[in-house]
Amino acid sequence: MTEVASRNGIATLEVRDLVRDFVVGRERGRRQILRAVDGVSFDLVAGQTLALVGESGSGKSTVASVLAQLIRPTSGTIRLGGKLIGTRGRALRRYREEVQIVFQDPFASLNPFHTVDHHLRRPLRIHHRAGSKSEEDEQVLQLLERVNLFPVKRVAGKHPHELSGGQRQRVAIARALAPRPSVLLADEPVSMLDVSIRLEILNLIDQLKTEDNLAVLYITHDLATARHFSSRVIVMYRGEVVESGPADEVILAPKHPYTQLLASAAPDPRRPERRTQLPERTTQLLERRTQLLEGTTRGEGCRFAERCPSAMPVCATRPSLVDVGTAHQARCWLYDGAAGE
Ligand code: ADP
Ligand code: MG
Repeated sequence: MTEVASRNGIATLEVRDLVRDFVVGRERGRRQILRAVDGVSFDLVAGQTLALVGESGSGKSTVASVLAQLIRPTSGTIRLGGKLIGTRGRALRRYREEVQIVFQDPFASLNPFHTVDHHLRRPLRIHHRAGSKSEEDEQVLQLLERVNLFPVKRVAGKHPHELSGGQRQRVAIARALAPRPSVLLADEPVSMLDVSIRLEILNLIDQLKTEDNLAVLYITHDLATARHFSSRVIVMYRGEVVESGPADEVILAPKHPYTQLLASAAPDPRRPERRTQLPERTTQLLERRTQLLEGTTRGEGCRFAERCPSAMPVCATRPSLVDVGTAHQARCWLYDGAAGE
Protein backbone atom coordinates (compact mmCIF):
# COMPACT_ATOMS: atom_id res chain seq x y z
CA MET A 1 0.00 0.00 0.00
CA THR A 2 1.30 3.45 -0.82
CA GLU A 3 1.80 6.01 1.91
CA VAL A 4 -1.02 8.08 0.49
CA ALA A 5 -3.47 5.20 0.46
CA SER A 6 -2.62 4.26 4.02
CA ARG A 7 -3.49 7.78 5.15
CA ASN A 8 -7.08 7.36 3.98
CA GLY A 9 -9.72 7.78 6.65
CA ILE A 10 -7.22 8.41 9.43
CA ALA A 11 -6.82 11.90 10.85
CA THR A 12 -3.76 13.46 9.31
CA LEU A 13 -3.73 16.34 11.76
CA GLU A 14 -5.33 16.08 15.20
CA VAL A 15 -5.87 19.29 17.10
CA ARG A 16 -6.83 19.05 20.77
CA ASP A 17 -7.78 21.78 23.25
CA LEU A 18 -5.87 24.43 21.38
CA VAL A 19 -5.53 27.71 23.28
CA ARG A 20 -3.78 30.88 22.15
CA ASP A 21 -3.56 34.03 24.26
CA PHE A 22 -2.36 37.44 23.14
CA VAL A 23 -1.14 40.16 25.47
CA VAL A 24 -3.15 43.15 24.35
CA GLY A 25 -2.10 45.76 26.89
CA ARG A 26 -1.38 46.56 30.51
CA GLU A 27 -3.61 47.92 33.19
CA ARG A 28 -2.16 48.94 36.56
CA GLY A 29 0.89 46.80 35.88
CA ARG A 30 -1.13 43.71 35.04
CA ARG A 31 -1.04 42.19 31.59
CA GLN A 32 -4.33 42.22 29.73
CA ILE A 33 -4.82 38.91 27.97
CA LEU A 34 -7.07 38.19 25.05
CA ARG A 35 -7.84 34.50 24.59
CA ALA A 36 -8.16 34.44 20.80
CA VAL A 37 -8.53 30.65 20.61
CA ASP A 38 -10.09 28.83 23.54
CA GLY A 39 -10.03 25.04 23.68
CA VAL A 40 -10.50 24.23 20.01
CA SER A 41 -10.36 20.58 18.85
CA PHE A 42 -10.81 19.01 15.43
CA ASP A 43 -9.31 16.53 12.97
CA LEU A 44 -8.16 17.13 9.43
CA VAL A 45 -8.59 13.95 7.40
CA ALA A 46 -6.73 13.03 4.19
CA GLY A 47 -8.81 13.62 1.09
CA GLN A 48 -11.36 15.74 2.97
CA THR A 49 -12.04 19.42 3.50
CA LEU A 50 -13.04 20.82 6.86
CA ALA A 51 -14.53 24.32 6.72
CA LEU A 52 -13.89 26.71 9.60
CA VAL A 53 -16.46 29.50 9.61
CA GLY A 54 -17.23 32.43 11.87
CA GLU A 55 -17.31 36.20 11.79
CA SER A 56 -14.22 38.33 11.71
CA GLY A 57 -12.26 38.24 14.98
CA SER A 58 -13.53 34.80 16.02
CA GLY A 59 -10.01 33.31 15.98
CA LYS A 60 -9.93 31.50 12.62
CA SER A 61 -6.62 32.93 11.38
CA THR A 62 -5.05 32.39 14.78
CA VAL A 63 -5.93 28.69 14.49
CA ALA A 64 -4.33 28.57 11.02
CA SER A 65 -1.20 30.41 12.20
CA VAL A 66 -0.75 28.00 15.08
CA LEU A 67 -1.25 24.99 12.78
CA ALA A 68 1.28 26.41 10.32
CA GLN A 69 3.65 26.92 13.30
CA LEU A 70 3.93 30.61 12.53
CA ILE A 71 3.01 31.22 16.17
CA ARG A 72 3.07 28.93 19.19
CA PRO A 73 0.02 27.70 21.00
CA THR A 74 -0.42 28.77 24.63
CA SER A 75 -1.54 25.19 25.31
CA GLY A 76 -3.04 22.20 23.57
CA THR A 77 -1.63 19.50 21.33
CA ILE A 78 -1.22 18.94 17.61
CA ARG A 79 -0.49 15.52 16.20
CA LEU A 80 0.59 14.88 12.64
CA GLY A 81 0.16 11.27 11.51
CA GLY A 82 -0.44 10.28 15.14
CA LYS A 83 2.79 11.82 16.48
CA LEU A 84 3.13 14.96 18.56
CA ILE A 85 4.65 17.59 16.32
CA GLY A 86 8.20 18.81 16.65
CA THR A 87 8.73 22.53 17.10
CA ARG A 88 12.43 22.87 16.30
CA GLY A 89 15.24 21.79 14.07
CA ARG A 90 14.72 18.98 11.62
CA ALA A 91 11.31 18.07 13.05
CA LEU A 92 10.08 21.60 12.43
CA ARG A 93 11.41 21.56 8.88
CA ARG A 94 9.69 18.27 8.22
CA TYR A 95 6.44 19.67 9.63
CA ARG A 96 6.73 22.72 7.41
CA GLU A 97 6.93 20.42 4.39
CA GLU A 98 3.85 18.54 5.42
CA VAL A 99 1.67 21.48 6.42
CA GLN A 100 1.38 24.34 3.96
CA ILE A 101 -0.68 27.51 4.12
CA VAL A 102 -2.28 29.73 1.49
CA PHE A 103 -3.16 33.21 2.68
CA GLN A 104 -5.98 35.55 1.85
CA ASP A 105 -3.92 38.23 0.13
CA PRO A 106 -2.06 37.04 -2.98
CA PHE A 107 -0.59 40.54 -3.38
CA ALA A 108 1.14 40.47 0.00
CA SER A 109 2.25 36.84 -0.13
CA LEU A 110 4.45 37.09 -3.25
CA ASN A 111 7.66 39.09 -3.39
CA PRO A 112 7.30 41.81 -6.05
CA PHE A 113 11.01 41.62 -6.93
CA HIS A 114 11.06 37.93 -7.80
CA THR A 115 9.71 35.96 -10.75
CA VAL A 116 7.16 33.19 -10.52
CA ASP A 117 9.99 30.78 -11.30
CA HIS A 118 11.92 31.98 -8.24
CA HIS A 119 8.86 31.59 -5.99
CA LEU A 120 8.44 27.95 -7.01
CA ARG A 121 12.10 26.97 -7.20
CA ARG A 122 12.84 28.12 -3.66
CA PRO A 123 10.61 25.61 -1.81
CA LEU A 124 11.78 22.82 -4.16
CA ARG A 125 15.34 23.62 -3.13
CA ILE A 126 14.72 24.15 0.58
CA HIS A 127 12.91 20.83 0.81
CA HIS A 128 15.28 18.98 -1.54
CA ARG A 129 12.54 18.00 -3.94
CA ALA A 130 14.68 17.85 -7.07
CA GLY A 131 17.87 15.86 -7.68
CA SER A 132 19.27 18.09 -10.40
CA LYS A 133 18.84 21.49 -12.00
CA SER A 134 16.99 20.03 -14.98
CA GLU A 135 14.67 18.09 -12.68
CA GLU A 136 14.02 21.32 -10.81
CA ASP A 137 13.23 23.15 -14.07
CA GLU A 138 10.79 20.43 -14.97
CA GLN A 139 9.09 20.51 -11.58
CA VAL A 140 8.60 24.27 -11.74
CA LEU A 141 6.76 23.86 -15.04
CA GLN A 142 4.76 20.90 -13.72
CA LEU A 143 3.61 22.96 -10.72
CA LEU A 144 2.39 25.70 -13.06
CA GLU A 145 0.56 23.09 -15.13
CA ARG A 146 -1.13 21.72 -12.04
CA VAL A 147 -2.59 25.14 -11.21
CA ASN A 148 -3.54 25.79 -14.87
CA LEU A 149 -1.20 28.69 -15.54
CA PHE A 150 -0.44 28.49 -19.26
CA PRO A 151 1.77 28.89 -21.24
CA VAL A 152 3.91 27.62 -18.38
CA LYS A 153 7.28 28.86 -19.64
CA ARG A 154 6.02 32.36 -20.17
CA VAL A 155 4.25 32.52 -16.82
CA ALA A 156 7.42 31.30 -15.07
CA GLY A 157 9.32 34.38 -16.25
CA LYS A 158 6.73 36.87 -15.04
CA HIS A 159 6.76 39.07 -11.95
CA PRO A 160 3.76 39.25 -9.61
CA HIS A 161 2.65 42.67 -10.91
CA GLU A 162 2.21 41.15 -14.37
CA LEU A 163 -0.40 38.73 -13.05
CA SER A 164 -4.04 39.14 -12.05
CA GLY A 165 -5.14 38.47 -8.46
CA GLY A 166 -6.46 35.05 -9.45
CA GLN A 167 -3.22 34.13 -11.23
CA ARG A 168 -1.21 35.24 -8.22
CA GLN A 169 -3.32 33.05 -5.96
CA ARG A 170 -2.64 30.13 -8.34
CA VAL A 171 1.10 30.80 -7.94
CA ALA A 172 0.67 30.85 -4.15
CA ILE A 173 -1.13 27.50 -4.37
CA ALA A 174 1.60 26.05 -6.64
CA ARG A 175 4.22 27.21 -4.14
CA ALA A 176 2.29 25.50 -1.33
CA LEU A 177 2.23 22.26 -3.34
CA ALA A 178 5.98 22.33 -4.07
CA PRO A 179 7.11 20.59 -0.86
CA ARG A 180 4.41 17.89 -1.46
CA PRO A 181 2.43 18.53 1.71
CA SER A 182 -0.23 16.29 3.22
CA VAL A 183 -2.12 19.22 4.79
CA LEU A 184 -3.23 22.44 3.12
CA LEU A 185 -4.47 25.36 5.22
CA ALA A 186 -6.41 27.88 3.13
CA ASP A 187 -7.20 31.05 5.10
CA GLU A 188 -9.97 32.85 3.20
CA PRO A 189 -8.18 31.99 -0.06
CA VAL A 190 -10.68 33.75 -2.32
CA SER A 191 -12.13 36.58 -0.27
CA MET A 192 -9.87 39.19 -1.87
CA LEU A 193 -10.49 37.95 -5.39
CA ASP A 194 -13.04 39.03 -7.92
CA VAL A 195 -16.34 37.24 -7.32
CA SER A 196 -16.29 35.88 -10.88
CA ILE A 197 -13.13 33.82 -10.35
CA ARG A 198 -13.66 32.64 -6.77
CA LEU A 199 -15.27 29.38 -7.78
CA GLU A 200 -12.45 28.57 -10.22
CA ILE A 201 -9.89 28.83 -7.45
CA LEU A 202 -12.01 26.84 -5.00
CA ASN A 203 -12.56 24.17 -7.67
CA LEU A 204 -8.81 24.06 -8.22
CA ILE A 205 -8.13 23.52 -4.51
CA ASP A 206 -10.81 20.83 -4.49
CA GLN A 207 -9.26 19.06 -7.46
CA LEU A 208 -5.76 19.18 -5.93
CA LYS A 209 -7.20 17.81 -2.70
CA THR A 210 -8.50 14.77 -4.59
CA GLU A 211 -5.36 14.30 -6.70
CA ASP A 212 -2.93 14.53 -3.76
CA ASN A 213 -5.23 13.18 -1.04
CA LEU A 214 -4.71 16.40 0.89
CA ALA A 215 -6.31 17.16 4.22
CA VAL A 216 -7.69 20.67 3.69
CA LEU A 217 -8.74 23.33 6.20
CA TYR A 218 -10.88 25.88 4.39
CA ILE A 219 -11.39 29.07 6.38
CA THR A 220 -14.21 31.24 5.13
CA HIS A 221 -17.09 33.59 5.87
CA ASP A 222 -19.08 32.08 3.08
CA LEU A 223 -21.49 29.37 4.17
CA ALA A 224 -22.50 28.42 0.62
CA THR A 225 -18.97 27.47 -0.48
CA ALA A 226 -18.25 25.96 2.96
CA ARG A 227 -21.15 23.60 2.33
CA HIS A 228 -20.25 22.89 -1.26
CA PHE A 229 -16.55 22.18 -0.77
CA SER A 230 -16.37 20.50 2.63
CA SER A 231 -17.53 17.36 4.30
CA ARG A 232 -17.57 18.87 7.78
CA VAL A 233 -17.97 22.38 9.15
CA ILE A 234 -16.93 23.91 12.45
CA VAL A 235 -18.28 27.25 13.57
CA MET A 236 -16.25 29.51 15.85
CA TYR A 237 -17.53 32.37 17.94
CA ARG A 238 -15.17 34.51 20.03
CA GLY A 239 -12.47 31.86 20.21
CA GLU A 240 -14.70 28.87 20.87
CA VAL A 241 -16.19 26.16 18.70
CA VAL A 242 -19.96 26.61 19.04
CA GLU A 243 -21.05 24.00 16.50
CA SER A 244 -19.46 21.22 14.48
CA GLY A 245 -20.90 18.57 12.23
CA PRO A 246 -21.56 17.33 8.70
CA ALA A 247 -21.56 20.28 6.29
CA ASP A 248 -25.13 19.82 5.04
CA GLU A 249 -26.56 19.52 8.55
CA VAL A 250 -24.68 22.45 10.04
CA ILE A 251 -25.57 24.77 7.19
CA LEU A 252 -29.05 23.63 6.21
CA ALA A 253 -30.25 22.71 9.70
CA PRO A 254 -28.06 24.65 12.12
CA LYS A 255 -28.61 24.01 15.82
CA HIS A 256 -26.68 26.76 17.57
CA PRO A 257 -28.47 30.13 17.60
CA TYR A 258 -25.28 31.76 16.29
CA THR A 259 -25.06 29.41 13.31
CA GLN A 260 -28.76 30.01 12.73
CA LEU A 261 -28.10 33.73 12.67
CA LEU A 262 -25.20 33.29 10.23
CA ALA A 263 -27.32 31.08 8.00
CA SER A 264 -30.26 33.49 8.03
CA ALA A 265 -28.01 36.47 7.28
CA ALA A 266 -26.40 34.70 4.32
CA PRO A 267 -27.86 35.91 1.05
CA ASP A 268 -30.27 33.37 -0.34
CA PRO A 269 -31.98 34.23 -3.61
CA ARG A 270 -34.94 32.04 -2.65
CA ARG A 271 -35.67 34.00 0.53
CA PRO A 272 -35.09 37.71 -0.05
CA GLU A 273 -37.75 38.61 2.54
CA ARG A 274 -35.73 37.23 5.47
CA ARG A 275 -33.65 40.39 5.71
CA THR A 276 -36.62 42.59 6.41
CA GLN A 277 -37.12 40.78 9.72
CA LEU A 278 -33.88 42.02 11.16
CA PRO A 279 -34.82 45.32 12.87
CA GLU A 280 -37.50 43.75 15.07
CA ARG A 281 -35.14 40.94 15.89
CA THR A 282 -32.42 43.37 16.84
CA THR A 283 -34.69 45.09 19.33
CA GLN A 284 -35.53 41.75 20.88
CA LEU A 285 -31.87 40.89 21.08
CA LEU A 286 -31.02 44.13 22.81
CA GLU A 287 -33.75 43.59 25.40
CA ARG A 288 -32.53 40.08 26.14
CA ARG A 289 -29.02 41.32 26.40
CA THR A 290 -29.92 43.92 28.97
CA GLN A 291 -31.87 41.38 31.03
CA LEU A 292 -29.03 38.97 30.92
CA LEU A 293 -26.29 41.40 31.77
CA GLU A 294 -28.32 42.66 34.74
CA GLY A 295 -28.82 39.09 35.89
CA THR A 296 -25.25 37.89 35.88
CA THR A 297 -22.36 36.98 33.64
CA ARG A 298 -19.17 39.06 33.52
CA GLY A 299 -18.02 36.83 30.70
CA GLU A 300 -18.23 33.49 32.46
CA GLY A 301 -21.35 32.29 30.70
CA CYS A 302 -22.18 31.59 27.10
CA ARG A 303 -20.34 34.14 24.99
CA PHE A 304 -23.17 34.42 22.53
CA ALA A 305 -25.86 35.04 25.17
CA GLU A 306 -25.81 38.81 24.77
CA ARG A 307 -26.80 38.47 21.12
CA CYS A 308 -28.91 35.34 21.42
CA PRO A 309 -32.65 35.37 20.72
CA SER A 310 -33.07 32.25 22.89
CA ALA A 311 -31.04 33.38 25.92
CA MET A 312 -32.22 31.99 29.28
CA PRO A 313 -30.99 32.40 32.87
CA VAL A 314 -28.89 29.22 32.63
CA CYS A 315 -26.80 30.89 29.89
CA ALA A 316 -24.98 32.77 32.64
CA THR A 317 -23.14 29.46 33.09
CA ARG A 318 -20.79 28.32 30.36
CA PRO A 319 -22.33 25.61 28.16
CA SER A 320 -20.40 22.55 26.92
CA LEU A 321 -20.45 21.01 23.48
CA VAL A 322 -23.28 18.47 23.49
CA ASP A 323 -24.41 15.95 20.88
CA VAL A 324 -27.26 17.21 18.73
CA GLY A 325 -27.08 14.52 16.04
CA THR A 326 -24.68 11.99 14.58
CA ALA A 327 -21.18 13.48 14.75
CA HIS A 328 -22.92 16.84 15.23
CA GLN A 329 -22.39 18.98 18.34
CA ALA A 330 -23.47 22.38 19.58
CA ARG A 331 -22.34 24.43 22.59
CA CYS A 332 -25.77 25.47 23.76
CA TRP A 333 -28.01 24.97 26.79
CA LEU A 334 -31.02 24.47 24.50
CA TYR A 335 -29.76 20.96 23.82
CA ASP A 336 -28.17 20.16 27.15
CA GLY A 337 -30.22 17.81 29.29
CA ALA A 338 -28.50 19.27 32.35
CA ALA A 339 -30.11 22.67 31.74
CA GLY A 340 -33.38 21.71 33.43
CA GLU A 341 -31.76 20.20 36.54
P1 ADP B 1 -10.38 35.87 12.40
O1 ADP B 1 -9.35 35.27 11.49
O2 ADP B 1 -11.48 34.91 12.75
O3 ADP B 1 -10.92 37.16 11.88
P2 ADP B 1 -8.15 36.30 14.21
O4 ADP B 1 -7.64 34.95 14.54
O5 ADP B 1 -7.41 37.10 13.22
O6 ADP B 1 -9.70 36.20 13.80
O7 ADP B 1 -8.24 37.16 15.56
C1 ADP B 1 -8.87 36.68 16.73
C2 ADP B 1 -8.71 37.71 17.82
O8 ADP B 1 -7.34 37.75 18.21
C3 ADP B 1 -9.09 39.11 17.41
O9 ADP B 1 -9.71 39.73 18.50
C4 ADP B 1 -7.75 39.75 17.09
O10 ADP B 1 -7.80 41.14 17.31
C5 ADP B 1 -6.83 39.08 18.08
N1 ADP B 1 -5.46 38.98 17.59
C6 ADP B 1 -5.03 38.29 16.50
N2 ADP B 1 -3.69 38.39 16.36
C7 ADP B 1 -3.25 39.15 17.39
C8 ADP B 1 -1.96 39.63 17.81
N3 ADP B 1 -0.86 39.32 17.15
N4 ADP B 1 -1.92 40.41 18.91
C9 ADP B 1 -3.03 40.72 19.61
N5 ADP B 1 -4.26 40.32 19.28
C10 ADP B 1 -4.38 39.55 18.18
MG1 MG C 1 -8.78 35.91 9.56
